[in-house]
Amino acid sequence: MKKNAIWIIALMAVFVSACSSGNNAPAASDGKLKIVATYSIIADMVENIAGDKAEVYSMVPIGTDPHMYDPLPKDTQKVSQADLVFYNGLNLETGKGWFQNLLEVTNKKDVAFVVSEEVTPMHLTEKGQESEEDPHAWLDIQNGIKYVDVIAKRIIEADPDNKDYYLKNQADYVAKLEETDQYAKQEIQKVPENKRILVTSEGAFKYFSKAYGFQAAYIWEINTDNQGTPDQMNRIVDIIKSKQVPALFVETSINPKTMETVSTETGVPIHSKIFTDSLAKKGEQGDTYITMVKWNIDKVIEGLTQ
Ligand SMILES: [Zn+2]
Repeated sequence: MKKNAIWIIALMAVFVSACSSGNNAPAASDGKLKIVATYSIIADMVENIAGDKAEVYSMVPIGTDPHMYDPLPKDTQKVSQADLVFYNGLNLETGKGWFQNLLEVTNKKDVAFVVSEEVTPMHLTEKGQESEEDPHAWLDIQNGIKYVDVIAKRIIEADPDNKDYYLKNQADYVAKLEETDQYAKQEIQKVPENKRILVTSEGAFKYFSKAYGFQAAYIWEINTDNQGTPDQMNRIVDIIKSKQVPALFVETSINPKTMETVSTETGVPIHSKIFTDSLAKKGEQGDTYITMVKWNIDKVIEGLTQ
């Protein structure tokens, strides 16, 4: 072999190893970041920041409960290949441990980030559960903005070359979220104070109630509880009767049967579905974080003022 040829081979080896060792470069071959979100609401926030620079995979299917989930082989594969993984934490995917198990199996703890890290947690109130966090922080849009800030920060760390693009997306999106928050706070004024009581199956509206001046009542406090025990049923029926609640609501991500029973027992109608732990299917009303919150506000006001 000629001397020149040996040199070319040696240089090629150096070049190949330099490329594969990488620094923080996105792993995807098309240059796009690969991002996994545990459920649809976080995935929508991520898409708003990452735009066309990432491939976003949402794990828990639309209309399904993220508190309890069995990851599919495809989920494991997506997490294994991910540059970034975003999850809610606060006792949601972490309540029964399915998500920690998945991170363990895929060895991806170092790229998994909890989007609620800047949120002040609220806790469950049922006896014996007071030390457990309530996960549903996103139902207060100001918390949603905190989620978005964490998401943007981590995406920029993973792909600093496109920093300006992400910052612009973040600013535009946060402006829309602020507008939605203002809308919610104004619209709520249409409901007389003594009528501001929101009855759902799961007690998912703690953060929402605090932010927008509501009382929340529920059949069970968190989806990982037993759902619809006789004690829970008696309690909610009493509340509905004594407070003369005019309308009930049922979440899209749970079985509506228990709330239907409550409706039959009290004679109070279920006014509408409501979004808590999942967006609507693509193409339907409520298929983004912003439109799901707007749907909730509009339907709650409509139900309580009729
Ligand atoms: Zn929930």
